[in-house]
Amino acid sequence: MRLKDQFPLLAGDPGLHYLDSGASSQVPGAVLDAVSRFETTQRANVHRGVHRLAEAATAAYEGARDDIARFLSAAREEIVFTSGTTAAINLVAHSFGDGLAAGDAIVISGLEHHSNIVPWQMLRDRRGLVLEALPVTEEGRIDLSQLDRVVTKRTRLIALAHCSNVTGAVVDLGRVVASAKAVGAAVLVDGAQRMPHGPLDVPGLGVDFYAFSGHKMYAPHGIGVLWGRRERLEAMPPFLGGGDMIRRVTLEKTEYAPPPVRFEAGTPNVSGAIGLGAACRWMGGLDWTEIVQEELRLTGCLLDGLARVPGVRVLGPLGLQQRLGVVSFALAGAHPHDVSQILDRHGVACRGGHHCAQPLMDRFDLAGTTRATIAPYNEDADIDALLVGLDEARRLLA
Ligand code: PLP
Repeated sequence: MRLKDQFPLLAGDPGLHYLDSGASSQVPGAVLDAVSRFETTQRANVHRGVHRLAEAATAAYEGARDDIARFLSAAREEIVFTSGTTAAINLVAHSFGDGLAAGDAIVISGLEHHSNIVPWQMLRDRRGLVLEALPVTEEGRIDLSQLDRVVTKRTRLIALAHCSNVTGAVVDLGRVVASAKAVGAAVLVDGAQRMPHGPLDVPGLGVDFYAFSGHKMYAPHGIGVLWGRRERLEAMPPFLGGGDMIRRVTLEKTEYAPPPVRFEAGTPNVSGAIGLGAACRWMGGLDWTEIVQEELRLTGCLLDGLARVPGVRVLGPLGLQQRLGVVSFALAGAHPHDVSQILDRHGVACRGGHHCAQPLMDRFDLAGTTRATIAPYNEDADIDALLVGLDEARRLLA
Protein backbone atom coordinates (compact mmCIF):
# COMPACT_ATOMS: atom_id res chain seq x y z
CA MET A 1 0.00 0.00 0.00
CA ARG A 2 1.32 3.45 -0.93
CA LEU A 3 1.73 5.75 2.06
CA LYS A 4 -0.54 8.20 0.25
CA ASP A 5 -3.42 5.71 0.45
CA GLN A 6 -3.43 6.06 4.24
CA PHE A 7 -4.60 9.67 3.79
CA PRO A 8 -8.34 9.75 2.99
CA LEU A 9 -8.25 13.25 1.48
CA LEU A 10 -5.40 12.37 -0.90
CA ALA A 11 -6.79 8.94 -1.74
CA GLY A 12 -10.14 10.55 -2.56
CA ASP A 13 -8.64 13.18 -4.88
CA PRO A 14 -6.13 11.46 -7.18
CA GLY A 15 -5.69 14.62 -9.31
CA LEU A 16 -4.39 16.61 -6.34
CA HIS A 17 -0.65 17.25 -5.99
CA TYR A 18 -0.42 18.46 -2.41
CA LEU A 19 2.85 20.35 -1.90
CA ASP A 20 1.71 22.67 0.89
CA SER A 21 2.39 20.44 3.91
CA GLY A 22 4.64 23.15 5.37
CA ALA A 23 1.46 25.18 5.93
CA SER A 24 -0.65 22.20 7.11
CA SER A 25 -0.05 18.54 6.38
CA GLN A 26 -2.79 16.06 5.53
CA VAL A 27 -4.05 13.66 8.21
CA PRO A 28 -3.85 9.83 8.04
CA GLY A 29 -6.79 7.55 8.77
CA ALA A 30 -5.13 6.32 11.97
CA VAL A 31 -5.30 9.84 13.44
CA LEU A 32 -8.83 10.52 12.19
CA ASP A 33 -9.94 7.20 13.75
CA ALA A 34 -8.38 8.06 17.12
CA VAL A 35 -10.14 11.44 17.19
CA SER A 36 -13.44 9.92 16.09
CA ARG A 37 -13.14 7.17 18.75
CA PHE A 38 -12.66 9.80 21.44
CA GLU A 39 -15.56 11.95 20.24
CA THR A 40 -17.95 9.01 19.88
CA THR A 41 -17.00 6.87 22.90
CA GLN A 42 -15.00 8.88 25.46
CA ARG A 43 -15.88 12.56 25.12
CA ALA A 44 -15.90 14.41 28.46
CA ASN A 45 -13.85 17.08 30.17
CA VAL A 46 -10.49 16.07 31.69
CA HIS A 47 -8.98 16.28 35.21
CA ARG A 48 -12.41 17.09 36.68
CA GLY A 49 -15.13 14.44 36.86
CA VAL A 50 -14.94 11.02 38.48
CA HIS A 51 -17.57 9.38 36.29
CA ARG A 52 -16.56 6.68 33.83
CA LEU A 53 -16.41 8.94 30.76
CA ALA A 54 -14.43 11.66 32.54
CA GLU A 55 -11.89 9.08 33.64
CA ALA A 56 -11.64 7.61 30.12
CA ALA A 57 -11.15 11.10 28.63
CA THR A 58 -8.45 11.95 31.20
CA ALA A 59 -6.67 8.66 30.55
CA ALA A 60 -6.77 9.26 26.76
CA TYR A 61 -5.51 12.85 27.14
CA GLU A 62 -2.68 11.89 29.50
CA GLY A 63 -1.94 8.84 27.32
CA ALA A 64 -1.40 11.24 24.41
CA ARG A 65 1.12 13.13 26.55
CA ASP A 66 2.97 9.81 27.06
CA ASP A 67 2.97 9.13 23.29
CA ILE A 68 4.42 12.57 22.59
CA ALA A 69 7.00 12.25 25.38
CA ARG A 70 8.15 8.93 23.86
CA PHE A 71 8.38 10.56 20.42
CA LEU A 72 10.66 13.26 21.87
CA SER A 73 12.59 10.91 24.22
CA ALA A 74 11.44 13.27 26.97
CA ALA A 75 9.72 13.06 30.36
CA ARG A 76 5.93 13.48 30.35
CA GLU A 77 6.21 16.37 32.85
CA GLU A 78 8.12 18.31 30.18
CA ILE A 79 5.29 18.17 27.61
CA VAL A 80 3.02 21.22 27.80
CA PHE A 81 0.01 21.20 25.47
CA THR A 82 -0.54 24.50 23.66
CA SER A 83 -2.58 25.48 20.63
CA GLY A 84 0.55 25.42 18.42
CA THR A 85 4.04 26.77 17.89
CA THR A 86 2.91 30.39 18.16
CA ALA A 87 1.23 29.80 21.52
CA ALA A 88 4.26 27.85 22.79
CA ILE A 89 6.66 30.67 21.92
CA ASN A 90 4.35 33.28 23.45
CA LEU A 91 4.18 31.18 26.62
CA VAL A 92 7.97 31.30 26.94
CA ALA A 93 8.06 35.00 26.05
CA HIS A 94 5.73 35.67 29.00
CA SER A 95 6.72 33.10 31.62
CA PHE A 96 10.46 32.99 31.03
CA GLY A 97 10.55 36.54 29.64
CA ASP A 98 9.05 38.11 32.72
CA GLY A 99 12.15 37.00 34.63
CA LEU A 100 14.36 39.17 32.42
CA ALA A 101 15.49 42.70 33.23
CA ALA A 102 16.14 45.87 31.25
CA GLY A 103 19.35 45.53 29.28
CA ASP A 104 19.14 41.73 28.96
CA ALA A 105 19.35 40.57 25.35
CA ILE A 106 17.52 38.02 23.21
CA VAL A 107 18.99 36.73 19.96
CA ILE A 108 16.88 35.59 17.01
CA SER A 109 17.77 35.42 13.30
CA GLY A 110 16.78 37.09 10.06
CA LEU A 111 14.97 34.02 8.72
CA GLU A 112 12.49 33.46 11.54
CA HIS A 113 8.74 33.01 11.09
CA HIS A 114 6.87 36.02 12.49
CA SER A 115 5.83 33.85 15.44
CA ASN A 116 9.48 33.75 16.50
CA ILE A 117 9.96 37.50 16.00
CA VAL A 118 6.86 39.37 17.15
CA PRO A 119 6.58 37.85 20.69
CA TRP A 120 10.22 38.87 21.33
CA GLN A 121 9.63 42.40 20.05
CA MET A 122 6.61 42.65 22.36
CA LEU A 123 8.69 41.34 25.28
CA ARG A 124 11.50 43.75 24.41
CA ASP A 125 9.04 46.65 24.55
CA ARG A 126 7.47 45.44 27.83
CA ARG A 127 10.73 44.97 29.68
CA GLY A 128 13.28 47.22 27.99
CA LEU A 129 15.30 44.36 26.53
CA VAL A 130 17.66 44.34 23.58
CA LEU A 131 16.68 42.20 20.59
CA GLU A 132 19.44 41.17 18.18
CA ALA A 133 19.29 39.12 14.99
CA LEU A 134 21.87 36.81 13.45
CA PRO A 135 22.14 37.62 9.72
CA VAL A 136 21.21 35.24 6.90
CA THR A 137 23.76 33.99 4.35
CA GLU A 138 23.32 34.22 0.56
CA GLU A 139 22.41 30.51 0.69
CA GLY A 140 19.48 31.21 3.03
CA ARG A 141 21.02 29.85 6.22
CA ILE A 142 21.42 31.47 9.63
CA ASP A 143 24.95 32.86 9.58
CA LEU A 144 26.45 31.08 12.58
CA SER A 145 29.86 32.63 11.90
CA GLN A 146 28.36 35.73 13.54
CA LEU A 147 27.49 33.96 16.83
CA ASP A 148 30.58 35.26 18.60
CA ARG A 149 29.73 38.84 17.62
CA VAL A 150 25.99 38.76 18.36
CA VAL A 151 25.88 36.55 21.48
CA THR A 152 27.29 38.45 24.45
CA LYS A 153 27.33 38.31 28.24
CA ARG A 154 23.98 40.13 28.15
CA THR A 155 22.30 37.37 26.11
CA ARG A 156 19.67 35.46 28.13
CA LEU A 157 17.97 33.54 25.31
CA ILE A 158 18.70 32.46 21.74
CA ALA A 159 15.50 31.62 19.79
CA LEU A 160 15.94 30.05 16.34
CA ALA A 161 14.04 27.92 13.84
CA HIS A 162 15.37 24.36 13.57
CA CYS A 163 14.40 24.35 9.89
CA SER A 164 13.47 27.46 7.90
CA ASN A 165 9.90 27.47 6.58
CA VAL A 166 11.16 29.35 3.50
CA THR A 167 14.60 28.02 2.58
CA GLY A 168 14.47 24.54 4.15
CA ALA A 169 17.90 25.13 5.76
CA VAL A 170 18.49 23.17 8.98
CA VAL A 171 20.53 24.96 11.62
CA ASP A 172 23.47 23.35 13.41
CA LEU A 173 22.04 23.41 16.93
CA GLY A 174 25.25 22.06 18.44
CA ARG A 175 27.05 25.30 17.59
CA VAL A 176 24.15 27.39 18.89
CA VAL A 177 24.00 25.49 22.19
CA ALA A 178 27.78 25.81 22.69
CA SER A 179 27.58 29.54 22.13
CA ALA A 180 24.60 29.90 24.52
CA LYS A 181 26.25 27.76 27.23
CA ALA A 182 29.39 29.91 27.08
CA VAL A 183 27.38 32.92 28.29
CA GLY A 184 24.76 31.08 30.41
CA ALA A 185 21.88 31.76 27.97
CA ALA A 186 18.90 29.48 27.30
CA VAL A 187 18.00 28.18 23.82
CA LEU A 188 14.50 27.99 22.36
CA VAL A 189 13.99 26.09 19.13
CA ASP A 190 11.05 26.58 16.80
CA GLY A 191 10.63 23.03 15.54
CA ALA A 192 7.49 23.61 13.46
CA GLN A 193 9.13 22.54 10.19
CA ARG A 194 11.35 19.82 11.68
CA MET A 195 8.89 17.69 13.59
CA PRO A 196 6.97 16.45 10.49
CA HIS A 197 10.13 14.55 9.51
CA GLY A 198 10.39 11.99 12.28
CA PRO A 199 11.05 11.37 15.99
CA LEU A 200 13.72 13.44 17.67
CA ASP A 201 15.73 13.15 20.89
CA VAL A 202 14.88 16.68 22.02
CA PRO A 203 16.59 16.66 25.46
CA GLY A 204 19.70 15.33 23.69
CA LEU A 205 19.88 18.52 21.60
CA GLY A 206 21.00 20.39 24.72
CA VAL A 207 18.35 23.09 24.23
CA ASP A 208 15.92 24.41 26.87
CA PHE A 209 12.64 24.82 24.96
CA TYR A 210 11.31 23.19 21.78
CA ALA A 211 8.03 24.32 20.18
CA PHE A 212 5.96 22.66 17.46
CA SER A 213 2.48 22.39 15.92
CA GLY A 214 0.32 19.31 15.42
CA HIS A 215 -1.27 20.43 12.15
CA LYS A 216 2.06 20.29 10.32
CA MET A 217 2.76 16.74 11.56
CA TYR A 218 -0.36 14.81 10.49
CA ALA A 219 -2.49 15.82 13.49
CA PRO A 220 -5.49 18.15 13.87
CA HIS A 221 -5.34 21.95 13.90
CA GLY A 222 -5.26 23.92 17.16
CA ILE A 223 -2.90 21.64 19.10
CA GLY A 224 0.83 21.90 19.67
CA VAL A 225 3.51 21.38 22.27
CA LEU A 226 6.03 23.30 24.25
CA TRP A 227 8.73 20.94 25.46
CA GLY A 228 10.65 22.56 28.29
CA ARG A 229 13.55 21.19 30.30
CA ARG A 230 12.12 20.23 33.70
CA GLU A 231 14.16 22.66 35.78
CA ARG A 232 13.32 25.54 33.44
CA LEU A 233 9.58 24.86 33.59
CA GLU A 234 9.67 24.42 37.36
CA ALA A 235 11.30 27.84 37.73
CA MET A 236 8.72 29.61 35.56
CA PRO A 237 5.49 31.27 36.70
CA PRO A 238 2.28 30.46 34.80
CA PHE A 239 1.30 32.49 31.75
CA LEU A 240 -2.50 32.12 31.83
CA GLY A 241 -4.47 31.72 35.06
CA GLY A 242 -7.68 29.73 35.49
CA GLY A 243 -9.03 26.26 36.07
CA ASP A 244 -6.80 23.17 36.26
CA MET A 245 -3.46 24.98 36.72
CA ILE A 246 -3.84 25.34 40.50
CA ARG A 247 -3.14 23.34 43.62
CA ARG A 248 -5.24 25.54 45.94
CA VAL A 249 -7.11 28.82 45.50
CA THR A 250 -8.37 31.15 48.21
CA LEU A 251 -9.78 34.60 47.63
CA GLU A 252 -6.42 36.01 48.69
CA LYS A 253 -3.98 33.91 46.72
CA THR A 254 -3.31 30.87 44.54
CA GLU A 255 -0.82 28.05 44.90
CA TYR A 256 0.03 26.79 41.42
CA ALA A 257 0.16 23.19 40.22
CA PRO A 258 3.54 21.83 39.09
CA PRO A 259 4.38 21.69 35.35
CA PRO A 260 3.06 20.76 32.86
CA VAL A 261 -0.47 21.46 34.16
CA ARG A 262 0.71 24.82 35.56
CA PHE A 263 0.82 26.00 31.95
CA GLU A 264 -2.50 24.48 30.80
CA ALA A 265 -5.16 26.79 32.22
CA GLY A 266 -8.75 26.08 31.22
CA THR A 267 -10.27 23.18 29.32
CA PRO A 268 -7.64 21.99 26.85
CA ASN A 269 -8.08 20.84 23.25
CA VAL A 270 -8.64 17.25 24.35
CA SER A 271 -9.45 15.70 20.97
CA GLY A 272 -6.56 17.61 19.39
CA ALA A 273 -4.14 16.26 21.99
CA ILE A 274 -5.43 12.73 21.39
CA GLY A 275 -4.99 13.29 17.64
CA LEU A 276 -1.42 14.49 18.17
CA GLY A 277 -0.68 11.46 20.35
CA ALA A 278 -2.05 9.22 17.59
CA ALA A 279 0.06 11.07 14.98
CA CYS A 280 3.19 10.41 17.08
CA ARG A 281 2.27 6.73 17.32
CA TRP A 282 1.61 6.58 13.57
CA MET A 283 4.91 8.33 12.81
CA GLY A 284 6.69 6.05 15.28
CA GLY A 285 5.75 3.06 13.14
CA LEU A 286 7.48 4.37 10.00
CA ASP A 287 11.11 4.17 8.84
CA TRP A 288 12.13 7.83 8.86
CA THR A 289 15.64 7.25 7.58
CA GLU A 290 14.09 5.85 4.43
CA ILE A 291 11.35 8.51 4.27
CA VAL A 292 13.69 11.47 4.67
CA GLN A 293 15.99 9.95 2.04
CA GLU A 294 13.02 9.77 -0.35
CA GLU A 295 11.90 13.31 0.54
CA LEU A 296 15.39 14.56 -0.25
CA ARG A 297 15.49 12.61 -3.52
CA LEU A 298 12.27 14.41 -4.54
CA THR A 299 13.76 17.71 -3.32
CA GLY A 300 16.77 17.08 -5.58
CA CYS A 301 14.46 16.36 -8.55
CA LEU A 302 12.59 19.60 -7.90
CA LEU A 303 15.79 21.65 -7.55
CA ASP A 304 17.13 20.12 -10.79
CA GLY A 305 13.87 20.89 -12.59
CA LEU A 306 13.81 24.47 -11.30
CA ALA A 307 17.41 24.99 -12.46
CA ARG A 308 16.21 24.30 -16.02
CA VAL A 309 13.42 26.94 -15.95
CA PRO A 310 14.58 30.32 -17.27
CA GLY A 311 13.98 33.20 -14.85
CA VAL A 312 13.69 31.02 -11.73
CA ARG A 313 15.68 31.92 -8.62
CA VAL A 314 15.73 29.44 -5.74
CA LEU A 315 15.80 30.94 -2.25
CA GLY A 316 17.71 28.40 -0.18
CA PRO A 317 20.47 25.79 -0.37
CA LEU A 318 20.85 24.14 -3.79
CA GLY A 319 22.51 21.07 -2.26
CA LEU A 320 20.82 18.44 -0.10
CA GLN A 321 23.07 18.71 2.97
CA GLN A 322 21.57 20.11 6.19
CA ARG A 323 18.23 20.87 4.59
CA LEU A 324 14.72 19.44 4.43
CA GLY A 325 12.19 19.41 1.60
CA VAL A 326 11.08 23.04 1.75
CA VAL A 327 11.79 24.69 -1.60
CA SER A 328 11.06 28.36 -2.31
CA PHE A 329 11.55 30.04 -5.64
CA ALA A 330 10.78 33.29 -7.42
CA LEU A 331 9.89 33.54 -11.11
CA ALA A 332 11.20 36.79 -12.58
CA GLY A 333 8.40 39.15 -13.57
CA ALA A 334 5.65 37.08 -11.93
CA HIS A 335 3.88 37.53 -8.59
CA PRO A 336 3.96 34.34 -6.47
CA HIS A 337 0.16 34.47 -6.03
CA ASP A 338 -0.28 34.35 -9.82
CA VAL A 339 2.19 31.48 -10.07
CA SER A 340 0.32 29.58 -7.34
CA GLN A 341 -3.00 30.15 -9.11
CA ILE A 342 -1.69 28.73 -12.37
CA LEU A 343 -0.18 25.78 -10.50
CA ASP A 344 -3.59 25.22 -8.91
CA ARG A 345 -5.09 24.77 -12.39
CA HIS A 346 -2.71 21.83 -12.72
CA GLY A 347 -3.93 20.38 -9.43
CA VAL A 348 -0.77 21.55 -7.65
CA ALA A 349 -1.23 23.05 -4.16
CA CYS A 350 1.73 25.33 -3.36
CA ARG A 351 1.96 28.33 -1.07
CA GLY A 352 2.64 31.76 -2.56
CA GLY A 353 3.53 34.85 -0.52
CA HIS A 354 5.91 36.01 2.19
CA HIS A 355 5.36 32.88 4.34
CA CYS A 356 5.17 35.01 7.51
CA ALA A 357 8.88 35.76 7.06
CA GLN A 358 8.89 39.35 5.82
CA PRO A 359 12.37 40.20 7.20
CA LEU A 360 13.75 37.30 5.13
CA MET A 361 11.93 38.57 2.03
CA ASP A 362 13.46 42.01 2.68
CA ARG A 363 16.90 40.40 2.96
CA PHE A 364 16.51 39.00 -0.56
CA ASP A 365 14.59 42.01 -1.90
CA LEU A 366 11.53 39.93 -2.79
CA ALA A 367 7.81 40.48 -2.09
CA GLY A 368 7.34 36.74 -1.80
CA THR A 369 8.10 33.33 -3.23
CA THR A 370 6.28 30.22 -4.35
CA ARG A 371 6.93 27.39 -1.91
CA ALA A 372 6.65 23.64 -2.30
CA THR A 373 7.07 21.45 0.77
CA ILE A 374 7.64 17.74 0.46
CA ALA A 375 6.02 15.24 2.81
CA PRO A 376 6.11 11.42 3.06
CA TYR A 377 3.05 11.08 0.78
CA ASN A 378 4.59 13.02 -2.12
CA GLU A 379 5.72 11.22 -5.25
CA ASP A 380 7.51 11.98 -8.54
CA ALA A 381 4.16 12.78 -10.17
CA ASP A 382 3.75 15.76 -7.80
CA ILE A 383 7.10 17.25 -8.81
CA ASP A 384 6.39 16.60 -12.50
CA ALA A 385 3.00 18.34 -12.25
CA LEU A 386 4.60 21.35 -10.53
CA LEU A 387 7.22 21.69 -13.27
CA VAL A 388 4.59 21.40 -16.04
CA GLY A 389 2.45 24.06 -14.32
CA LEU A 390 5.48 26.30 -13.81
CA ASP A 391 6.29 26.08 -17.50
CA GLU A 392 2.82 27.39 -18.29
CA ALA A 393 3.17 30.10 -15.61
CA ARG A 394 6.44 31.22 -17.22
CA ARG A 395 4.88 31.39 -20.68
CA LEU A 396 1.87 33.34 -19.40
CA LEU A 397 3.45 35.61 -16.80
CA ALA A 398 7.18 36.06 -17.22
N1 PLP B 1 7.40 28.55 12.90
C1 PLP B 1 7.55 28.06 11.67
C2 PLP B 1 8.93 27.76 11.18
C3 PLP B 1 6.44 27.82 10.86
O1 PLP B 1 6.59 27.32 9.65
C4 PLP B 1 5.15 28.12 11.39
C5 PLP B 1 3.95 27.94 10.57
O2 PLP B 1 3.96 28.10 9.37
C6 PLP B 1 5.05 28.63 12.68
C7 PLP B 1 6.18 28.83 13.40
C8 PLP B 1 3.73 28.95 13.29
O3 PLP B 1 3.00 27.81 13.52
P1 PLP B 1 1.50 27.88 14.05
O4 PLP B 1 0.78 28.83 13.13
O5 PLP B 1 1.01 26.47 13.93
O6 PLP B 1 1.53 28.37 15.45
